[in-house]
Amino acid sequence: MKETAMLSVTAIRMGTVIDHIENGQGMRIVRLLKIQSSDPVTIGLNLKSSLMGLKDLIKVENVFLTKADTAKIALFAPNATVNVIKDFAIESKYRVELPDQVDGVLCCANTLCITRIEKIRTSFSLIDLRGRTGLRCRFCEKVHRQEELIDL
Ligand SMILES: [Zn+2]
Repeated sequence: MKETAMLSVTAIRMGTVIDHIENGQGMRIVRLLKIQSSDPVTIGLNLKSSLMGLKDLIKVENVFLTKADTAKIALFAPNATVNVIKDFAIESKYRVELPDQVDGVLCCANTLCITRIEKIRTSFSLIDLRGRTGLRCRFCEKVHRQEELIDL
């Protein structure tokens, strides 16, 4: 019994394992992905990592990510790796990549922005802020750091 319980946490037959998530971002990423299936999701927070100190990890059974999903993950966990699991084995593994633009995910922090007043889908282009990621709102042109923006 104990072994079976362990197995269900450590291995999945089919689905996706998102690993190397910056510690503290795991729950946010689960919310961002808006996983709507009734399939099991395992969330590991504050796991020990030799590379990162502490990391978060998410396992989603029977779910495979789209390019838009991995772009969202990259915003908050740029070092995350995605493992595609089939028949308990890693079929492929890749790193998330920052997109050029993010639409309909984040709310503009500028309270005077038109997207806060009218029902307009938000859109940000990603720019480099001296080594950090900045997001420029396409409507009000204000540049925000990702941590200043809240999810829609
Ligand atoms: Zn704006």
